[in-house]
Formats: sequence, structure tokens, C-alpha cells
Amino acid sequence: MPPTPDNRPELRDLTTAQVQELLASLGERPFRVRQVLAWLYRQGARDIAEMTDLSRDLRRRLAAAARLTDLTPTQAQTAADGTRKLLFRLADGQAVESVLIPEEEHHTLCVSSQVGCRMGCAFCATGALGLSRNLSPAEITGQVLAARRLVDEARPLTNLVFMGMGEPLDNLDNLLVALEHILGEHGLQMSQRRVTVSTAGRVDRLAALGRGTPAALAVSLGAADDELRSRLMPINRRWNLAALKKALMAYPLKPTRRITIEYVLLGGVNDRPEQAAQLASWCRGLKCKVNLIAFNPHPGAAFAPPEPAAVQAFQEVLAARHVTALLRKSRGAEIAAACGQLAAQDLKAGPPAESAP
Ligand code: SF4
Repeated sequence: MPPTPDNRPELRDLTTAQVQELLASLGERPFRVRQVLAWLYRQGARDIAEMTDLSRDLRRRLAAAARLTDLTPTQAQTAADGTRKLLFRLADGQAVESVLIPEEEHHTLCVSSQVGCRMGCAFCATGALGLSRNLSPAEITGQVLAARRLVDEARPLTNLVFMGMGEPLDNLDNLLVALEHILGEHGLQMSQRRVTVSTAGRVDRLAALGRGTPAALAVSLGAADDELRSRLMPINRRWNLAALKKALMAYPLKPTRRITIEYVLLGGVNDRPEQAAQLASWCRGLKCKVNLIAFNPHPGAAFAPPEPAAVQAFQEVLAARHVTALLRKSRGAEIAAACGQLAAQDLKAGPPAESAP
């Protein structure tokens, strides 16, 4: 006999309001929601049976009405600099990766939002996979909870960047549910300044992102002229640099906050001084800072890393034009954990991928 489908909702897929409704349907008072959310996120419970300050009877009724699935990395590779790449096998057999990066006093996790990605950025290994599917809220927060178990109090997990596999704004609804619990007072209570959503430029979803979460925003630019950007990042054919800038100028930012502009430097392609000048002009008037990332080659990559002298010259042009620019250190390149290298190798044999919009 075939197994009966499990129609119970996944607890970590629910918003706070939905958890409240579920508990109300079980005859529970509103304060219970805080207890259950604390178990789901702060305690990172792996099973409803662990929620020992709920009565045995409530745990039984909750388990009959909902399920709780834990996400555990099936593989972890560690680079010489301590960067760890975590591979998660999902319930349907798909796989995603996250990257846990040790800093002086804390850890940063690079989180995935989709299995694969349909944006097709030319410099990115994930883009070559195409999109298999969106991650659920539970699969997004599950990466964070799993990473938290791997770090100690001396260097806690305080920073998240949604720069792993996928375009987060392509999966906005699930992203916002996950962020509600990552930032929320009954959830992980992470700082909104330390949680960054990075987009390739889904201009149509920026306003909804700004309304939906106070998390920080980063935009991957790649080039500040339309012809080159359209070649490197096909999304530019749909929303060009002018449209992107207009949407960013309207983005709701608190007075002390700035948008991060990510610019991956590709040797001989977008790393010339005149291209730095174009970038500086494009940034004019925008409350932003620039992160420069030297390209990390991946198997089959059509690009080379920039020469150190080119990087320095690029930075000097930006500095002379009063654009704040940091060169981000590349971490974990030898385990293919660096920016744009995530490809969950065994995904390549997965189902046919969806193409770009
Ligand atoms: S850089 Fe980001 S948006 Fe572009 S293909 Fe890679 S994962 Fe997708």
C-alpha cells in the first residue's frame, strides 16, 4: 500500500500568526505561541517531544496537527582558513549548500534561498545549474539553526548574508517568513544590521522587500554599463541600470544605513580604471558603499581573477571619487565555498532546470 501523504504543516514554515492560529485551534491560549517559537528557533528543537515545558498532552496534540523536520548537514568540508561548506540533503533528495565563515569574534553564514538559480549570471557556478525549486522557510532557517550548532559561544553566529545559492527575491514570500523568525523577538533575535539580503536586481520586488523586512540590502552589480552588465547578468536586459538605481533611490533606508553594492572583479573584463569611474558615477546620489570581490574561478569558468595591480588601481579611482569601497577577502576558495562557487556538485544530475525570466 502506498504511504499516506503527510498533510500536516511544517512548524517552521509558519508565520507567528499562523503558529498562533494553530495553537488556538488546539484550544491553547495566546501566550503559548512564545513558548513554541522559543523551542523552534532559540532552542532549535529537532523534535516536538523536546518541548518539555509543554504538557505531554499538548505535545501529543501538536504532533498530530503539525510536523517538525530537522535539517542536518550531510557533509561538511573545511578549508585551511577554517571556512566550512555545509551540504544539506533535503527531504525530496535535492541538495543545497551554505558556507560558515569564521571571523575574529563571530561567524558569518552565507545562506541559500533556492536550489540552483535561474538568473544565469555568467560568473557564477550556481547560475549554470538553472533553478530546481525554491527553499521553504523551514529549509532557510534550518541552515541557520544547523550552523549555530557548529559554533561555540566564543565566536557565535551573528551575521547572515543571503548570498548562497539562489536569488532571494525570486523566493520573496518564503524569505520574508524566514526573516520574521531570524530577526523576531520570539525568534533568533539577530540584528537587522547583520542580516543582509543580496539581490541581482529584481527591481519589481525591491519595494515589497523594503516593506516586508528591516534587514540590510546588498545588490550585485558586476558592471556599471548596460551593455556589459547585460552580458554578465541577464537580469539587466529586463531591468537596466537606470531602473535599478531608481528603485534603490526609493528603497526605505533608516538614516544611518546604506545599501551595499557588490562588484565582482573579473580580470580584463570589468576591472579597468575607466570602469571604476563608471561605477563611481552610477553610485552618485545613492546611500551606498561598495564591496569589491576578486573573482574566484570555478571549474569551467570563462573568467580569470583580476591582477592585484588592477584591483589597487580600481580602488584608487573609487577613493578619489569619494566612494567607500572595501575589498572583501575571499574565503574557502579551495573547497569551492567562495562567492559564486556554490554548485552542490551532485545537483548537476538533478531534474531539468527552469530558465531565466
Ligand atoms: S550570482 Fe546569485 S543571482 Fe546570479 S546566478 Fe549566482 S546565485 Fe543566481
